[in-house]
Amino acid sequence: MTKKTSTVLATALISIWVFAGCVRYNVAEPLNRFSSPEMGTTSGNEITVTPGSTWFAEGEYENFVLTGQALTSDNAEAALLFHTDGKSGYEVTFRNGPIDGTRKSGSLASVRNLYRSLAEGGKWFDFEIAVRGHNISVAINDTAVICYTEPEHPYRTKEYAGRLLSRGSIALKGVNGDVTFRNLQMTRLKQDAVNESDTMPRIDEQNDAVIRFQQRNFPVIDYHVHLKGGLTKEMAHAMSMNYGINYGVAPNAGEGGVGRMLADDKEVYEYFNEVKDMPFMRGVQGEGRKWTATFSQEALGVFDYLFTDGMTIVDHKGRLSRIYRPEEVHYDGVTKEQYMEHLVDQTVKILTNEPADIYANPTFLPEELNAEYAKYWTDERVNRVLDVLVKYNIALEINARYKIPSFDIIRKAKERGIKFTFGTNNVDANFGKLEYCLQAVEECGLTADDIWFPSMSVRRSREVVLYNKW
Ligand SMILES: [Zn+2]
Repeated sequence: MTKKTSTVLATALISIWVFAGCVRYNVAEPLNRFSSPEMGTTSGNEITVTPGSTWFAEGEYENFVLTGQALTSDNAEAALLFHTDGKSGYEVTFRNGPIDGTRKSGSLASVRNLYRSLAEGGKWFDFEIAVRGHNISVAINDTAVICYTEPEHPYRTKEYAGRLLSRGSIALKGVNGDVTFRNLQMTRLKQDAVNESDTMPRIDEQNDAVIRFQQRNFPVIDYHVHLKGGLTKEMAHAMSMNYGINYGVAPNAGEGGVGRMLADDKEVYEYFNEVKDMPFMRGVQGEGRKWTATFSQEALGVFDYLFTDGMTIVDHKGRLSRIYRPEEVHYDGVTKEQYMEHLVDQTVKILTNEPADIYANPTFLPEELNAEYAKYWTDERVNRVLDVLVKYNIALEINARYKIPSFDIIRKAKERGIKFTFGTNNVDANFGKLEYCLQAVEECGLTADDIWFPSMSVRRSREVVLYNKW
């Protein structure tokens, strides 16, 4: 009886409070009173969260913009929950450090995991989290890293069934080490708030493979994206957030390729400065066969990773040949078998002497040979290439555009303990969503442990061998 009376009374009070205009919209107010089931209550504009504790801020929120600053210690991780009762709602991750496969600052955990942080450990950084209708956005140091619109029928596994929009508390949860938050400012937004920069169509998650990988916390990274064919960095940024695929954007360093080419160390540094604050992995592709002589290890070392391929070779008559151009593939004087043997020799030389992290467009064959891919890629030839990858800790790209290597070869590489990356090698802005790569994961039984990350890179310690005489 007493309980019922107090509920009625509370409801009446809240109604008066709301109608009296005590809920203020579009005004930033400090979020500085917290209570924790484990730790009691605290107030103030700075709060440190430790593992195992959860702090609930005062109030319930639906549409809002929350800004603040955070500071992470080494390997520390915390989560900021919203629309939560402690279990339900979404989590934004706070964690910095090397690209090692752990989720990084700004991740909308298990829905849009990010693998590179725009913030650094040990340094205060700004963040903003907003909910406007069905749209969730997160910015780190003023750069948007998440723009996720919850579809009408979201896909959620049993484990994450509660990761949905509703209304509820803001909470800070410690996961590992110490993470400190300060200057939290909450602005309530009205019911009809919209995110004007949310311009891409909503994803149909019932028919989307990427969200299934996100829900398994399987890293979805396309390391082989080129800004070419009309794809601008702004478009790549929007697509990456919309699809839920982390992009590694790479220029081509060297000569002979298509699209943007970097010519020397100076251009490398200029390019790097242009993209360093973009929310991409920062890659570079060694192009042609002269790049190791053209660029310093130091300049190329600023990138998170470096890849090359065997699509430009020195052919059996000493000509530089781009084997993806039929007019440059000359069999004159040799059989196709001999040509193939030479192509494998070249691939082994490239991977032995040019310090790359990733073998991209792997096992690519000229048109005529590709018609009989399995015949030309004999076990013996496959093993010669895999041997080099093992020897120099080079990762094997699973290429979405060419659908290579074959699942057979991917299975062999997994058996050898070789790590994988996903890559598209797009020619324009109209490319897919890593379909072949995600299919390969299922067909070949790959796990997150089979995936390569830049923290595993050894290329900077490898010797550059100039093996071609020009
Ligand atoms: Zn490429």
